[in-house]
Amino acid sequence: MVYPETFQGIGVNSPESWLEPKKFEFKPHGFRDYDIDIKVEACGVCGSDIHAASGNWGKTNYPLVVGHEIIGKIVRLGSKVRKDFKVGDRVGIGAQADSCGVCKVCNTFDENYCKHNIGTYMGIYEDGTSSYGGYSSYVRVHDRFAFKIPEKLESKYAAPLLCGGITGFSPLLHNGVTKGTKVGVSGIGGIGHMSLLFAKALGAEVYAISRSDSKKEDSLKMGADHYISTSSDDWVEKYSGELDLIVNCGSSLTGTNLDQMLELLRPRGKLVFITAPPMEEKVTVAPFTMLKTGTFIGGSGIGGSKDIQFMLNFAAEHDIKPWVEAVDISEEGVTEVFKRAYSGDVRYRFTLVGYDKAFN
Ligand SMILES: [Zn+2]
Ligand SMILES: [Zn+2]
Repeated sequence: MVYPETFQGIGVNSPESWLEPKKFEFKPHGFRDYDIDIKVEACGVCGSDIHAASGNWGKTNYPLVVGHEIIGKIVRLGSKVRKDFKVGDRVGIGAQADSCGVCKVCNTFDENYCKHNIGTYMGIYEDGTSSYGGYSSYVRVHDRFAFKIPEKLESKYAAPLLCGGITGFSPLLHNGVTKGTKVGVSGIGGIGHMSLLFAKALGAEVYAISRSDSKKEDSLKMGADHYISTSSDDWVEKYSGELDLIVNCGSSLTGTNLDQMLELLRPRGKLVFITAPPMEEKVTVAPFTMLKTGTFIGGSGIGGSKDIQFMLNFAAEHDIKPWVEAVDISEEGVTEVFKRAYSGDVRYRFTLVGYDKAFN
C-alpha cells in the first residue's frame, strides 16, 4: 500500500538498536476535519531526536519515527482547515502536533504549555495511534500546528527553525530582548547557535558561553560580541553582574556550575533553561546564591503557534540562516546523523533532505 493509506518512515525499533534504523510502513492517525497531510521535503535533526531514539527519555511505542523540524508541501486538507491553506503550500511543523485547543493556555496561544499537548512524535492520538515524526514520507497534523514558510527561506535552512529556532527565540521574545540587552547564550550547539543569531538580529549585545575555546571562532563569526570560556580562571570575576539574561542551551548540565553562572547576571537578571537534558539530571543551585545575586531561574519550552509564525517571518526579514549540513535521508543517512549528532560532531545542525530518493 502507498499514500494515502500508509506512510513510509525510517524508524527505531528499540533503544538498544537505535543506531540501526529501518525503513517501514505505518498507518497514521485517522484523518480529521482540521488535519492536513504534508509531503515532507526536509527535516532538521534536533537533539531531542537523539534523546528520544536512544532511550534517554524512556521507552515508547516502536517503531519510533523521530523528526520535528519538518518542511513540506500540503497534499491534502480537511474540510475545516483554515482557508488560507491550499494544496501545494509550503509549510513547517515543529515539535508539537496537537493540543486541546480550548484551555486557558491554548486560548492565549501558549499551546506549548497545554496539558494535552501531543508531540510530533512519541505522542498518542485519541484513536490510540502513535504520532510519527518527519523522518517519513508524509506527516499528518492539525492545521493549528502548521506554519507558512516565507518564500525567502530555503527549506534546508528553514527546517531547524521549527524546533531549535523557536526554542532559542521564544525566551528572547518573552524576556524583552531588544537593542542593547546583554544576552548570554550558554552552550553553542544546535539550539545555542540559533539563539545567538536571533539575539544578534534583535540588537542584543551577545555573550557566547562555552566550556572551552573550541567554539570561539565560530561564535564570533555568528556575531557574538564576547566569548566566555568557563574553563578560564577569571571568567566569573571578569563578567560578574553584567548580563541581563542567560539562555542555557546545553544538552547536559554535567560540568556546569550554576552558582557561578548566576554570578554573571545583574540583579533581577534571569537564567532560563530551554533544552531538555536527560531525565535524571537535576538543577542544583544554592538558594543562597540566588538571594546573594538577586536573580531568577526559569524555563521556556519551544513556543506557541503565534510565536512560531512570528519567528519564521522575523527569520526571513533578518536573513537568519542556521549553519546546516545537509544529509540525504536513508537508513544509512539516519544512522550517520544519529552517530555524529550523539558525539557532537556537527557544526551546527543536520537537515535531512533527498526525500524523493528515499520514499515512493
Ligand atoms: Zn489546551
Ligand atoms: Zn526539538
